[in-house]
Amino acid sequence: MPGLDLDGQRLLGEKGCLTPEGLDVLRNAMPGALPEAVVRHFAACATCQRRALEAEAGPRAAGRRSRRAVAPSPTRLVVLVLTILVAFGLLLLSLAKLAGR
Ligand SMILES: [Zn+2]
Repeated sequence: MPGLDLDGQRLLGEKGCLTPEGLDVLRNAMPGALPEAVVRHFAACATCQRRALEAEAGPRAAGRRSRRAVAPSPTRLVVLVLTILVAFGLLLLSLAKLAGR
């Protein structure tokens, strides 16, 4: 990728694991564009692999959760309740007609 500083030492950080910036570069880099030191570390380090997976799944998983948590609007609830009441009223009306009263 043009404009990326692919210095392996900078991306790996002091502890030898990928820095947050390194993780970002790894997720967005073209195949083969990463420094060999970064690729070697990522292939062998379960911690960095888990961090990359969590970074990839995090926003989408959170989005699914928040969509499920949204409650229907009060207007929709009122419309639903009214529809049920009208349908029930029509049912009682037709039952009364069928009974001949
Ligand atoms: Zn690591």
